[in-house]
Amino acid sequence: MTDRKSLDYPYDAAPGPAEMIQVADGVHWLRMPIPLDLDHINLWLMEDEDEAGAPTWTIVDSGFGHKETQALWRRLFDGPAAGRRPHRLICTHYHPDHFGLAGWLAREFGVTVEMTEGEWVVGALLQRIDHETAAAAQDSFFRRHGMEAGLRERLAAFGNEYQRRVVTPPDRHRRIRDGQTLTIGGRRWEVLTVEGHAVEHACLLCRELDLLICGDQLLPKITPNISVYWFKDGGRPLAEYYESLDKLEAAVPGEALVLPSHKLPYRGVQTRIDQLRAHHVERLDALLQGMSRTTPMTGFALLPAMFPRKLDDMHMMFALGEVLAHLEHLADAGRAEAALDADGVQRWRLV
Ligand SMILES: [Zn+2]
Repeated sequence: MTDRKSLDYPYDAAPGPAEMIQVADGVHWLRMPIPLDLDHINLWLMEDEDEAGAPTWTIVDSGFGHKETQALWRRLFDGPAAGRRPHRLICTHYHPDHFGLAGWLAREFGVTVEMTEGEWVVGALLQRIDHETAAAAQDSFFRRHGMEAGLRERLAAFGNEYQRRVVTPPDRHRRIRDGQTLTIGGRRWEVLTVEGHAVEHACLLCRELDLLICGDQLLPKITPNISVYWFKDGGRPLAEYYESLDKLEAAVPGEALVLPSHKLPYRGVQTRIDQLRAHHVERLDALLQGMSRTTPMTGFALLPAMFPRKLDDMHMMFALGEVLAHLEHLADAGRAEAALDADGVQRWRLV
């Protein structure tokens, strides 16, 4: 899907390592590495002050839990960001690139960590599940959805990847919630929680600056992963995602500059919401094409209908989660139904 034509990208290039680009009064853009396909994350540093009125930084999202980002945070706070003390970290959601260094930032710099309750609970819990327990739970989930044994074994060998990507979380967090107004640098920022990609993902809207920090919810060029997971089987993630798009559509001014966690800042929030809705309609249609009224199929067997290209093991796992999220959506709409067969495998058919 191309969106180059319709979205307006005011910046051609992202900040380099340990560099900052000011994107609005008191709001700075940083970019940190991720050792995965999606090789970067955008983080935000906001000029703020503590209770005593001393200049501080409020950070939005921590970066991935590895040494490279730790070294870059040190370089930043010794270099271009040296004039202020980091005192507060707001994590949009629990994924490792957003929450991976929350505990380290809290211990190293004394920041307080602010998150929604749902994101905190899932992140802190997942980080503490040992590799064997995670491997067994994933194996049972993959088996139920028809994944072949060889791939299941290879994936089980990863154990709990989340634990490897997130340092020990902080001891505590300060809860933020939907509708709350946070004061950052004397300005009002509204917390808008959204669902579908994570559990209680926080977006931050500043009407005064016409800025939306959207986390992963409204990415340009790529679509956020909307999945069913081994620790959260079933449910209606795609319906939740659609509902959250409606919520953002109603709340965010059309001219707002959107600060996404990946790719480049853009304007054109309404266009992007329309594109994201259309993308999932296309995916649902592709899935319907691959399904049968008479021959029930597993989520794994339906994977090529939505993802015709060849995928490596890790991407097969993500793709299965996406297929299941779309199947649940079709079931919600009365277009498909699932049965758990005597062999313990769930199969889907058109109705
Ligand atoms: Zn995410």
